[in-house]
Amino acid sequence: MPTTTSNLSPAQPISISPDWKVQLSQAVTSIDELLSCLDLAPEQLSTSQQAASAFSLKVPRPFIDRMQSGNPRDPLLLQVLPVTDEMQQSPDYNKDPLEESKHNPIAGIVHKYANRLLLVISPACAINCRYCFRRHFPYDENRQSKQQWQTALDYIRQDKSINEVIYSGGDPLAANDNFLAWLTTEIAEISHIKRLRIHTRLPVVIPARIDQSFLNWATATRLKPIVVLHINHANEIDAEVASAIQKLTDAGMQVLNQSVLLREINDNAMALAELSERLFDCGVSPYYLHLCDPVAGAQHFDLDDSVAKQIYGELQCLLPGFLVPKLVREIPNRQSKTLVI
Ligand SMILES: *Cc1c(COP(=O)(O)O)cnc(C)c1O
Ligand code: SF4
Repeated sequence: MPTTTSNLSPAQPISISPDWKVQLSQAVTSIDELLSCLDLAPEQLSTSQQAASAFSLKVPRPFIDRMQSGNPRDPLLLQVLPVTDEMQQSPDYNKDPLEESKHNPIAGIVHKYANRLLLVISPACAINCRYCFRRHFPYDENRQSKQQWQTALDYIRQDKSINEVIYSGGDPLAANDNFLAWLTTEIAEISHIKRLRIHTRLPVVIPARIDQSFLNWATATRLKPIVVLHINHANEIDAEVASAIQKLTDAGMQVLNQSVLLREINDNAMALAELSERLFDCGVSPYYLHLCDPVAGAQHFDLDDSVAKQIYGELQCLLPGFLVPKLVREIPNRQSKTLVI
């Protein structure tokens, strides 16, 4: 039986439902509850309720289980905890840092790059990452009915230069499988589309998301599926995540990973090298290492370019070339991500 997440103390571990939707609904949303799960006292951290009201705290149990109890500097905790630093204002950090609203030709589509486009599938995420550049995205204007998706499909049908569709969000896998199966079938009927890419963090925060129902639709069509995960630190990968990834690779999907370079979370070459090694062990290729976007509320995660380049140079000395992700940043109105060298 699903148990509620209130009145929880570490002394009473709840049994975790095997159903990802139940796990999603049981995500922890209160600062106090998160701290109590980790045996941390509020005085040990500069948490902020105001930051949590601006962008809510949300973190599923399986991700909390990988945090170190009693460690206020845990690299997973720092990705999700609302803190006072978020309330800093700076003119260089704004709500639409990538100027995506300019490239939103119709609701649900972001078409910026040649030959591929993003579909904003689901406004929700399973986890709220404090550094997220989409924290201010106008998802309500991009919420879609099946009828409205027809307009998006028409857009893809009429542009024969597009050969790849990217499911994005939010997190596209927060949507239900019936809808995703329907949409994927429709897209597979468009003959100029070759590849389906899924950008998701859900298999990392709730590994149970990779169930048979997901595998069924993701492999049902002629489209070549590619999954791009989002993992920032080796501690995010436990045995359950590794086994979820194995289901993807066993089903013939190519699995890549993108990370964000984050101050005090993974801003050293050793941590990044360990992440790449762990990814490789699981059959995942490192793809991008993003510099932070200048999003309001996230500037305390950002690093100077010179520091980023130095870390990256050290990383290159620790790994074979194929395990070094590309260091990139997103500059508005460019035709691709921009390599930082
Ligand atoms: C990142 C991104 C893509 C994908 O870019 P790749 O370099 O192919 O991974 C596509 N569209 C938008 C709007 C993006 O931000
Ligand atoms: S999962 Fe991705 S889109 Fe969602 S909050 Fe985290 S970084 Fe943002």
